[in-house]
Amino acid sequence: MNFKIHDKLIHEVESPEGLLYRMIIIYTCFMTALIAILFLVIGDTTKINFYFFINSCTVTVMVWFIRKSFNIFSRDIHLLAFRVSLFFLLNSSLASMAGGLNLIDRDTASVIAALLYVPAMLVIIHSFNKFIAYVNHNYKSAVSLSLTDELTGLPNRRHLNVKLRELESRAGTICIADIDHFKKINDTYGHEAGDKVLRNMGLRLSSFVKDEIFISRSGGEEFAIIIFDNTNAEDVIRNIKTSVSDGCNGSIGVTLSIGVAIKQKEDSSSAAITSADNALYQAKSAGRDCIMYGQRYRR
Ligand code: GH3
Ligand code: MG
Ligand code: MG
Repeated sequence: MNFKIHDKLIHEVESPEGLLYRMIIIYTCFMTALIAILFLVIGDTTKINFYFFINSCTVTVMVWFIRKSFNIFSRDIHLLAFRVSLFFLLNSSLASMAGGLNLIDRDTASVIAALLYVPAMLVIIHSFNKFIAYVNHNYKSAVSLSLTDELTGLPNRRHLNVKLRELESRAGTICIADIDHFKKINDTYGHEAGDKVLRNMGLRLSSFVKDEIFISRSGGEEFAIIIFDNTNAEDVIRNIKTSVSDGCNGSIGVTLSIGVAIKQKEDSSSAAITSADNALYQAKSAGRDCIMYGQRYRR
């Protein structure tokens, strides 16, 4: 989908955002035109100076900033405060411009400009900091959502791929654990009950997660486990299997078949995954509810 966010926000005339944006543009054009006309009619055209050019540039930059702020899709109050402050700065520059062209008394123009400028700058600094924190928080939430499986709360396949890349230059153990006869559970107790089994499985497996143990839902009823340290890997895998078979699902009995591959530093992660997959296949062929180790392999 080719979604152009700034087109959507700015060109939606009926939306409050669109209306506000247009009102600011119309106001700026009107005020600039008014100052220009007054200057041409009652001003002294020989008095056009750098002061005028600097303020015209500032007005243009303020309008550009305000326009850019409308490209951000957010209802955050700090964004609104930021826009209002930019609007104050815009008016401060218009007042300076009018003063610089002698359309109003220069001292009066300076006071008006300062009264608008100082509070606007304070609010801009405060709201900009808050807004950055808000954007960062939202960004982190979005990343976290994109890496998490909705049903089990475990890391998803995308997150697994990130971890596999991390494992590429390290030694570790990769396991693929698959629930036995899960289709039968769905067929016997219903899809909802199947989902509950997966949720419980997520809870049970997450209790094993540590710095060096990563557990993800890699597919329907399949879980990939990476142990970034081979020392206690066998014990960990056995404990995971026992803990699941020990009945975390009430009356529904669940067993796991697990395929394991021990990866050395020089082995590739993809070869290790394939080996664990083959080992899982052997575990299923051997009657399920067991752990099988794969053959050694190389890049
Ligand atoms: P095996 O012991 O050989 O692994 O048999 P199995 O029945 O576990 O494996 P199979 O691949 O035949 O079936 C997996 C089933 O898992 C089929 C699919 O409908 C179900 N499934 C996949 N994702 C979900 C899910 O999110 N929720 C539920 N309830 N079922 C799911
Ligand atoms: Mg299965
Ligand atoms: Mg499966």
